[in-house]
Amino acid sequence: MTECTITTRKEDSTFTMKYKSTRGDVTGRTFEEALFTGYAADGGLILPETIPKIDAKELKSWAKLSYVELAKKIVPLFVGEDEIPTSDLSDIIDKAFSRFSVPEVSPIKRLPDGLNVMELFHGPTWSFKDLALSCVGQFIPYFLSKRKKHFNIIVGTSGDTGSSAIEAVRGQKWIDIVVLLPKGRCSQIQELQMTTVIEDNVHVYRVDGSSDDLDAPIKLCFRDNTFTKRHNLSSINSINWARIMVQTVHYIYAYLQMCPSCDKIVQVVVPTGALGNITSGIIAREMGVQLEFVCAVTQNDVVARTIQTGNYAIADHVIETLAPAMDIQIPYNMERIWYVLTGGDCKLIKKLMTEFEETGNVMVPKEITEALQKVVADTFVATDDVIRRTMKRTWDAHEYLVCPHTATGVAYHYQQLQKNPEEKKARIIIATASVIKFEEALQSAAIPFTRDPRVSKLFESKQRYKDMKKEDNWLEMLQDKIEDIDRNRTKE
Ligand SMILES: *Cc1c(COP(=O)(O)O)cnc(C)c1O
Repeated sequence: MTECTITTRKEDSTFTMKYKSTRGDVTGRTFEEALFTGYAADGGLILPETIPKIDAKELKSWAKLSYVELAKKIVPLFVGEDEIPTSDLSDIIDKAFSRFSVPEVSPIKRLPDGLNVMELFHGPTWSFKDLALSCVGQFIPYFLSKRKKHFNIIVGTSGDTGSSAIEAVRGQKWIDIVVLLPKGRCSQIQELQMTTVIEDNVHVYRVDGSSDDLDAPIKLCFRDNTFTKRHNLSSINSINWARIMVQTVHYIYAYLQMCPSCDKIVQVVVPTGALGNITSGIIAREMGVQLEFVCAVTQNDVVARTIQTGNYAIADHVIETLAPAMDIQIPYNMERIWYVLTGGDCKLIKKLMTEFEETGNVMVPKEITEALQKVVADTFVATDDVIRRTMKRTWDAHEYLVCPHTATGVAYHYQQLQKNPEEKKARIIIATASVIKFEEALQSAAIPFTRDPRVSKLFESKQRYKDMKKEDNWLEMLQDKIEDIDRNRTKE
């Protein structure tokens, strides 16, 4: 990757940023194009052509900024003035975070025993997905209203992405959103967060299958290029660049909160599924912030295995655990991490990914694995039993409740504490969701709880959804729905 001499908006009012694919055949794209792209045409993922660097002095001068103020420094490094002028970008960021329930956006709880937890769950749907999606939900209409163009967004979800995307775009004029959720496989509360949104532009289907099953009709739908173009189809799943971009902010915020003097390494423990969140952290590190990471996973340990052994191999099945948002088969963002760690070796990445896509298994060159092990200093696999015990321990010790996903990260901290009680490492654990969403896990951990009033309200709300049953033709139903949306819209 070529080093970017820091030209930013401050020094250069014509500052612009272009995007390319990890596989190298797609280059020179605008941020707007990146925003509306899932996979690039060559099958790769979108990244900036150069990763902006933050000057050490400048970073230190940001130590006292609020989360929103900091976002206004970071996001403009990735978006050209030519695409979104500074004042518009500032409005977008203000609006995106206006629905967070605390002004700090991502407050840090400092508990005894060096247990620092950054709570990323104060957005409208109580998971960290809200941090990025509430921004994406402002970026998209910004461009669409300029172009007077309507888009249909399709989202397949295993739980948190669906509700977060719905809240980000509900009631908006230029977007309709169709969400497919796996019936009975996300928590009841997650399901209610989607089915109780009664808006003309929100369309929810409960699919009789797993989250992998419901991906099939979505993929088929996008494969039909004519249909995709005619109906302006888009997706905002975890491979979307804009989400990765916005998430760099919470890593830099965490760093500055933990180490305002900017003279130490801060370790961030990340409960990990498809690697979207940690990829943002690795990009923040590449920008010049002294971060290192620990990857905490469930028994679905593809990521931990790849980091430890260098063998990237698809899991033959997904084990259902107490932390469903981390139960994945393929951590798609691995490709982006390789790109960053190899300094943008597109040829190599294309070769590795081609082999992986053909065989579901590839041995990563030793240099990449060693580079990865430097950045991700450690990995940790939490069984359901460890998750339960950790939830119980934070409750008993501090009357502090963590969700089952967050528990995987907290468990790592406790393990280190036991190994080395004198350890003085600056460590922070990311809390990816609020425990109020996961009553099943609380029950399973034998922690007495009373239902949160916000959750009670969900149970009392009216629901609206349609079912996709086993015997139905899901692709046809999906396409019919989209045709229907566009027909009704043009009638108005
Ligand atoms: C999505 C999610 C994760 C996993 O994040 P990735 O970006 O997929 O690694 C972890 N915890 C919760 C609560 C989530 O919603």
